[in-house]
Amino acid sequence: MAGEPQADCLFCKIVSGEVPATVVRETDTTVAFRDINPQAPTHILVIPKVHYPDATSLAAAEPQVAADVLREAGAVAVDEKLVETGYRVVFNTGSGAGQTVFHAHAHVLGGRGLNWPPG
Ligand code: IMP
Repeated sequence: MAGEPQADCLFCKIVSGEVPATVVRETDTTVAFRDINPQAPTHILVIPKVHYPDATSLAAAEPQVAADVLREAGAVAVDEKLVETGYRVVFNTGSGAGQTVFHAHAHVLGGRGLNWPPG
């Protein structure tokens, strides 16, 4: 069923606690944890507890949870003191755009200058 945990999904295993993660925030619908391979001094992933393969399919099926993910991305930025200097919220969508984990997630990146356009 849509949104149900997937046995072979790494981020579903982080939600269940089967795979450990450095969790920095948690709500009824989301978990935020530090990326294992940080691309900036602050690099945190915000994921929905429900399983959808990417952010746009999450938004289509469960828009309130997609809004929760975005709100938590903003809360992470406040917690990590990124608001004044700026930060980036990224949803890689599809393997051609660099998506490697097919459970919706927002990258929150900050703590250094961020170039545009991204690579
Ligand atoms: P994507 O490439 O946009 O799909 O992002 C997946 C992210 O998950 C990458 O930045 C990885 O470094 C990160 N990642 C993969 N495995 C783990 C883990 O076990 N804990 C935390 N982050 C992870």
